[in-house]
Amino acid sequence: MRGFRALTLAGVLLLACGTDKPPRPFDGQAALRAVEAQVAFGPRIPGTPGHAAQAAWLDSLLRPLADTLIVQRWTHVTAAGDSLPLVNFVARFNPGAGERILFLAHWDTRPRADGPESRDSSAAVPGANDGASGTAVLLGVAAALRQAPPSVGVDVLLVDGEDYGVFDEKADVLLGSRYYAAHPAPGPPPLYAVLLDMVGDRDLQIYEEGNSVTGAPEVVALVWRVAREAGHGNVFIPTLRYTITDDHLSLQAMGIRAIDVVDFDYPYWHTPEDTPDKVSAQSLQTVGEVVLALVANTER
Ligand SMILES: [Zn+2]
Repeated sequence: MRGFRALTLAGVLLLACGTDKPPRPFDGQAALRAVEAQVAFGPRIPGTPGHAAQAAWLDSLLRPLADTLIVQRWTHVTAAGDSLPLVNFVARFNPGAGERILFLAHWDTRPRADGPESRDSSAAVPGANDGASGTAVLLGVAAALRQAPPSVGVDVLLVDGEDYGVFDEKADVLLGSRYYAAHPAPGPPPLYAVLLDMVGDRDLQIYEEGNSVTGAPEVVALVWRVAREAGHGNVFIPTLRYTITDDHLSLQAMGIRAIDVVDFDYPYWHTPEDTPDKVSAQSLQTVGEVVLALVANTER
C-alpha cells in the first residue's frame, strides 16, 4: 500500500513536471578523475607512448559502453614528412536509429606549448583542459547512455590530431575530424553535431562562437536554450565572443550542422600549466548535464 501511494505520488509529480523524462545523471567527479587519468599518460602526441597508452585506454572504456565501437586508424604524413599514427573512436548508441545527434571532442594534445602566455615553447602541453576535458565529459556521457539507452541515435566521436600542427597555415591540424568527414559512420547523417573543446576550466563561461553562429545558428540557439532550461544560463552566455578554427569546421564542410562549445578565456591555453588543478568537477558536470539534456530534448 505504501508502495502504491508512493508510485501514485511519483506519477502525479511526473505529470506536474510535464512529460519529460527525468534527466540522466552525470558524474562530474568521475569526469575529473578521467581528466587526471589522461594527463597521467603524459602528453598524448601522435606517435608517442602516452598517445598509444591513451588510445588503448579509450578502447577499453568505450567498447563495453557503446552498442557499436568503430575504430578508425590511419597514417598521416605531415608537411615535415613525418608519419603520424592516428586513431579516431566512434562510440555509437542505438546505431539503427534514423534520427541521430553527434557529440565530438579531440583527445590528442599539442606537441608544443607555444601559446601566447607560455614560458616554455619547447615543453609539451599536458592538456588537462585542451584535450582531456571534452574527452572526459564524453566518456561520462557514454556511461550515462549505457545506463539508460537513448531512443534516438547518439554518436560519441573522439578525434585525434586536432592540435598537432600550425593553425594559421591549416597544416597538420584538425586531422581526425577531416578524416571522419571523408569516412563518416554509415547510415543517415546526424541532425546536428556539438564539439566540446576546453570545457573544464574552473572559471567556466561559454560564449557563442563565430563560425558556429555563421554555420549553424539554430543549433547555437538550441544548445544555449537547453543549457538555460537545465539551470546553466550563468555558464552558457548567449553572446558572441571568439571565432575559432576547430573541428566543427570539418563537419560543417561535409554538410553537418556543427557548432563549437568552447571556453577560450583560458590563460593556460597551450602552456605547460594546462594541468588538472585548472579544471573542476563542477564545470565538467555542467557541460555533461547540458549534453544529456540535449539527448533528452531530441528524445521528446
Ligand atoms: Zn589546443
